[in-house]
Amino acid sequence: MNIAIAGAGIGGLTTALCLHEMGFQVKVFEAVGTIRPLGVGINLMPHASEVLHRLGLAEVLQAVAVRTRCIEYRTKYGHLIQSDPRNVAAGFSAPQYSIHRGDLQMILLDAARERLGAQTVEAGKSVAGFSQTSSGVTVQFDDGGTYVCDLLIGADGLHSNVRRQLHPHEGPINYEGTMMFRGALEMDPIGDGRTMVIAGNHDVKFVTYPISEKARKQGRALTNWVAEVRNSQPRHIYDADWTREGSRDFIQSFKDFQMNDMDVVDILEKTEHVTEFPMVDRDPLSIWTSGRVTLLGDAAHPMYPIGANGASQAILDGRCLADRLAANPGPQGLQDYEEMRLPVTTNIVLSNRQSGPERVLDIAAARVTGPHDRIEDLITREELDEVAASYRNVAGFQRKGK
Ligand SMILES: Cc1cc2nc3c(=O)[nH]c(=O)nc-3n(C[C@H](O)[C@H](O)[C@H](O)COP(=O)(O)OP(=O)(O)OC[C@H]3O[C@@H](n4cnc5c(N)ncnc54)[C@H](O)[C@@H]3O)c2cc1C
Repeated sequence: MNIAIAGAGIGGLTTALCLHEMGFQVKVFEAVGTIRPLGVGINLMPHASEVLHRLGLAEVLQAVAVRTRCIEYRTKYGHLIQSDPRNVAAGFSAPQYSIHRGDLQMILLDAARERLGAQTVEAGKSVAGFSQTSSGVTVQFDDGGTYVCDLLIGADGLHSNVRRQLHPHEGPINYEGTMMFRGALEMDPIGDGRTMVIAGNHDVKFVTYPISEKARKQGRALTNWVAEVRNSQPRHIYDADWTREGSRDFIQSFKDFQMNDMDVVDILEKTEHVTEFPMVDRDPLSIWTSGRVTLLGDAAHPMYPIGANGASQAILDGRCLADRLAANPGPQGLQDYEEMRLPVTTNIVLSNRQSGPERVLDIAAARVTGPHDRIEDLITREELDEVAASYRNVAGFQRKGK
C-alpha cells in the first residue's frame, strides 16, 4: 500500500517513520523548497517521547534535547504556585524533552531519509488538493503535477489545503487576542538548568525553558522564552506566520516581573532575534476522514500552545494512524484512527481554551495582591493538584501508579 503525506513537519515525518516501521510504502511532499530548522523551542510530553523512543530515537534526542525535570508555575512576584514534575524519576515512562523545533524536525528528517530512502521526502511540492475514487487518490500539486497513491494524509499544518478541501466552508482561524513573542538567548542556566518556568497570568505571561543539551553540558543554557501579551479582543484572522519578525513594544508589559533567579526584562532585551505569532486555534471538526483521505496534527486539530500539546499530539496521531492501518489497511483503518484520536484532541482544544494546566496562574493572580502574600494561605494544595491531574487526564499522560 502506497501512502502519501502532505507536509514534512513534526507530524508528517513522525507518521512516515511509524508507517514505514509497519511495512507501508510512504512518500512525503513538503511545500517549502528547502527544509530548514525553523522555529524556536518546543516540548514533547512523556507519552510523545515514548513514541519517538520506540522509533529508536532516544539516543539522538538525549544528545540534543534537555530532559525537563519539572514545570514551575509562578506569580509575577516570583511566588512558586506549583511545581509539576515531568521526569522519569517522578514516575513517567519517558522524559519530557525541551528542544529546538528545528532540531527535532531535522532529527526526524534524517531518520526518514536514512530509513525510507533519500527520495522519500520531496521538498518544493506544495499539495493543492486531491481527487479520489473508490480505488485510489490523485494528489494535485500547485505546480500542476500529480501523484497517484492509495491513501493521503493531510499533515500540512495550520493552513492545511487538504483540510480546506474536506471542509470548504470553515472560514478563517480563531485569534484568541494574545500575541506570543518568542526568542532564545544563550546565557547562564536558571536554577538546575532543567526547569520550565511559567509566570504571570493569562493576560501577561512569561514562559521559559532551556532547549539545548549541548549548551547544558558546557555549563550554559540556550534559554527559550515566550512572552505572551493579550492585546486584542478574540476575532477571526487569516494571517498567522511562525517566522514573522516581532516588534519590541511588548517588553514594557514585563517591567514588574520579579523573579529571584532571572531578570526577565534583561533576557527579553538581550535577545537578538524575536518572532511573533498569534495564539490561534480552530473549532474542533466533526470528521477528519473522507474515504481515502484524512487529517493529522495541526491540520486536524490546531490548538493554543498550552500544555506542550501541539507537537506531542501530532506525534501521538502518527503512531495511532500507523497502528490502525497495520490492523486494517485502507479506508477503514483511517476511520479507526479518527475514532480514537478525534475525541481526545477535541477535548484538548477545548481545555486549552480554558487555559489547561495554566489555570493555576489565574487562580493565584486573583488572590495574590503582592510579594509579601503567602501562596499557602490563599490556595490549597488540593485545588492546585486537581488542575494538574485533570489536565494529565485530558492530555493522556499519567504517572505510574497515579
Ligand atoms: C516554520 C514553523 C515554525 C514553527 N515554530 C514553532 C515553535 O517555535 N514552537 C512551537 O511550539 N511550534 C512551532 N511550530 C508549530 C509546530 O511545529 C506544530 O504546532 C506541531 O509540531 C504540529 O506539527 P504538524 O506537523 O501538524 O505541523 P507543522 O510542524 O506546522 O508542519 C506542517 C508542515 O506542512 C508543510 N506544508 C504546509 N502547507 C503545505 C502544502 N500545501 N503542501 C505540502 N506541505 C505543506 C509546512 O511547510 C510544514 O513543514 C512551527 C511550525 C512551522 C511550520
